[in-house]
Amino acid sequence: MVLTYVHYKITQDSERGCEEQNVFSPNTYESEQRMTRLPKITHFRSSTGVDLYRLPTEVFSNGFVAYSYLVLGAGVPTLIDTGSGFGNSTQDLLNGIAAVRDDLGVPIDLQDIGRIIITHGHIDHFGGVADMLAVIGSATVGIHPLDKRILTNYAERVIVATKNLTIYLQRAGVREGRLQELLNMYGFSKRHFRSVKVDFTIEDEDTLDGMTFYHVPGHCSGQVAIQFGNVLLSADHILPFTSPHLAPESITHSTGVEHYLASLRKIAKVPNIEVTLGGHEEPMYALYERIETLQTRLGKKIERIMDIFHASDQPLTISDVSKRLYPEKRGFDVLLALQEAGAHIEYLYDRGYLGVVNLQEVEEQSNPVLFYTLLV
Ligand SMILES: [Zn+2]
Ligand SMILES: [Zn+2]
Repeated sequence: MVLTYVHYKITQDSERGCEEQNVFSPNTYESEQRMTRLPKITHFRSSTGVDLYRLPTEVFSNGFVAYSYLVLGAGVPTLIDTGSGFGNSTQDLLNGIAAVRDDLGVPIDLQDIGRIIITHGHIDHFGGVADMLAVIGSATVGIHPLDKRILTNYAERVIVATKNLTIYLQRAGVREGRLQELLNMYGFSKRHFRSVKVDFTIEDEDTLDGMTFYHVPGHCSGQVAIQFGNVLLSADHILPFTSPHLAPESITHSTGVEHYLASLRKIAKVPNIEVTLGGHEEPMYALYERIETLQTRLGKKIERIMDIFHASDQPLTISDVSKRLYPEKRGFDVLLALQEAGAHIEYLYDRGYLGVVNLQEVEEQSNPVLFYTLLV
């Protein structure tokens, strides 16, 4: 999120073209059509003999799909991520688990699932956790400590994050009427989630029942990737077609460009990964090349922002840069674009490439718009 815990989609920088999906468009698919629209359940076996079943769920009514993983052979049967809890998502997940049993012949019942691990605190990954706990009966729930409060103190997180976001958007130069529209969109679906108890937390390099966890902050504060031998569950940290959405740390700590780049370097050092499975999109079979591509794309975006400043004879706000970087964005995408631009401007500011010029206003006013200029 940044929507730290809530991002609706990650089409921001899709390399196969931006799919302009409107989160708020009505679900126009009949259920049969919807089922055929879902990708197939796919089975992977790791070099360590762990079975992973990739279960698609429609997490938003625009057809956006996220993957949960049913993991067998690594301690108790474990469900990794739970969909959004919106619309068809939970039913898709239940159907997927039933299909693993009925269609693939794997002896697994819902009640056998003893553990749920949440890869990060975005609604399309954790939103279904309370519903799944209700049908499973009892299972332990684990998440990285930096995202734990999203599950345990959801209402508090929403209020605090919304306040941080409001301050951020004011400083970014978003005008008052527009700001309220964006906040309304942001708050659209936050109210549905009931907090749940977290039974264990996951730290960087923890190992558990044949799983090795890596804390990879950037896209989300508490993002983890999970290794099973030659298979890596990368969640939203690394995706095959999309550069994961980044938001500035000024809204939520341990997000942003600096953390994301460090987390890419961390995963680049994990050896012998042959299959990488994300929270969205297709399996990846060339992880290390993909990391290099993501690093290159991030560098290019930073260059584009520098070019935008070079081309301007006036100081610029984050909103100005966002409009020039993403002129085609509409609706909720405008909020994502403002965060994405802000994450990069924050990175450039922290590294001394940009400075704030309207210091007198900053000194005298409570939360003025910040105007940036190039220092190099
Ligand atoms: Zn996601
Ligand atoms: Zn995410």
